[in-house]
Amino acid sequence: MNRTVKRIVVILIILILLPAAFLTINEMVSLNQNEEVIGRIYANQLDAILYSVNQYSEDIMNSWASRIDLFLDEIPKLKAKEVPATVDSFYDQLPSLFMVFVADSVNDDKIDLLGWNDENNFISVDYKHFSTEIHNLLEKNQNLVKRLFTYKKSGYRKLEPVETDTSEGEAILLFIEETPEGENRITGLILDPKEFIYRIMSPKIQEIAQQEFVISVFNPTENFQFNSSKDFKVREVQQSKPLWIFPNYKIGISLVGQTIDDLIKQRALTNILLIGLLTVVLILGVWIVYKNIRKEVEIAQIKSDFVSNVSHELRTPLSLISMFSETLEMDRVKTEEKKKEYYSIISNEANRLSKIVNSILNFSKMEAGKRQFNFVDSYLNDVVENVYRSYKFHLEQKGFTFSLEKDENIPILKIDEEAVSEAIVNLIDNAVKYSDDKKEIVIKTGQENNFAFVEVEDKGIGIPEKDQKKIFDKFFRVSSGNVHNVKGSGIGLSIVHHIMDAHKGKIEVLSEVGNGSKFRLLFPLSRT
Ligand code: ADP
Repeated sequence: MNRTVKRIVVILIILILLPAAFLTINEMVSLNQNEEVIGRIYANQLDAILYSVNQYSEDIMNSWASRIDLFLDEIPKLKAKEVPATVDSFYDQLPSLFMVFVADSVNDDKIDLLGWNDENNFISVDYKHFSTEIHNLLEKNQNLVKRLFTYKKSGYRKLEPVETDTSEGEAILLFIEETPEGENRITGLILDPKEFIYRIMSPKIQEIAQQEFVISVFNPTENFQFNSSKDFKVREVQQSKPLWIFPNYKIGISLVGQTIDDLIKQRALTNILLIGLLTVVLILGVWIVYKNIRKEVEIAQIKSDFVSNVSHELRTPLSLISMFSETLEMDRVKTEEKKKEYYSIISNEANRLSKIVNSILNFSKMEAGKRQFNFVDSYLNDVVENVYRSYKFHLEQKGFTFSLEKDENIPILKIDEEAVSEAIVNLIDNAVKYSDDKKEIVIKTGQENNFAFVEVEDKGIGIPEKDQKKIFDKFFRVSSGNVHNVKGSGIGLSIVHHIMDAHKGKIEVLSEVGNGSKFRLLFPLSRT
């Protein structure tokens, strides 16, 4: 049997658990890889959002450049007195723009500013100090201007920010355009980046961010941070890129509430939990299958034991009967006394045979659910006393002390007398079979917690604790002790259990190895 069970365990492990373990490990590994890919894709998407913010601000700047260019072309056509108002209203339309300057070349001594002088000419050279500063700036950024010229030559107007380190924090952008006269003109925009962020970028950023993200524009050195959501606690921005038009600034994006890492970790955790759960269910399933198979194998084994046990039990009385009847037949017995003894042995053995056959028949009826019970009002004490009387002589012959203690107050109960007798007989039979040297059996009746009971107590070999539940299973026999010397088929107690079930009663066992056992049949008083 053990080999069969072992083989089944190996098959189960190979067929189910190994592939499952392999799958689980594979799943875990690919899960990590998947999460990484998802993380990357997600980061790319956030980058794309930042890109669109950059693109938007650059588009605005470009459109401003076009308008400035057009305006610069228009101004010479204005009448002198119109200049101040027109220039003012032009600046009003482009919030955050401080000043526009124009130079013919990097070395141009005369930097023109978009404004007006006392004569209402739009270009003023009065801002001497300013002019020198711009002059220096252009010289410092010669390479950049050269690049802009190259772009221009290939027919492409590019707007480029200039690195500034002025304490005012303004930003400067340059582009090159042609004048109506066909000359090149370096145009510079001096802007207040913070005002640009608040007035121009902020509505767009809020539109892009909606409720899902927080987009921030920040300047790390100035400790400045604008966030699209007011509730956003200033914290480390998850992902950031430089802001193209203002090199000192960056744009960043964060998820509201959770970081991408959080999200990914959460997803991974859920997946791992699910896989874990699945594995547990699988292992549980395998375990249940294993348990069932083991039980089946055990039952098969027990059944074959049963057949050999029963045959054994039948053989002994049969051989005794045939032996004594043959002796009698051959007239070998001389005295009447001896004859009588042999007859009584034959009748006793025949009785035993019929008892065994009856109990097997009862058992098979019970197994098939066909055993019928006939409940009648009875005195439990009478039933017990009848069994006691019919056994007393027999047991005392065998050297047992056999006593009965009755509780005379037990009310009338509705029981099947025959079945209850059979149950008590089974218990007494066992008490006899499993008694060793101390041959002492006590039967007791009594009442306890709404139950009437019959108790059969012996001082025999006792039952190990771990087997006390199993002894009521059909065909089960305790494997230790004298079981091999004692005949039995393992169905007695399962019949008793069945009878007690039919009476809505209970059966209790109290036993200790070496100190005897006490079986108690409890009948509910409420059924009286
Ligand atoms: P069996 O025909 O083997 O006696 P039972 O169903 O009557 O079958 O009992 C099941 C097993 O319980 C027995 O094989 C025995 O090991 C154990 N058992 C039952 N009654 C007693 C008892 N009074 N003392 C010790 N062991 C007992």
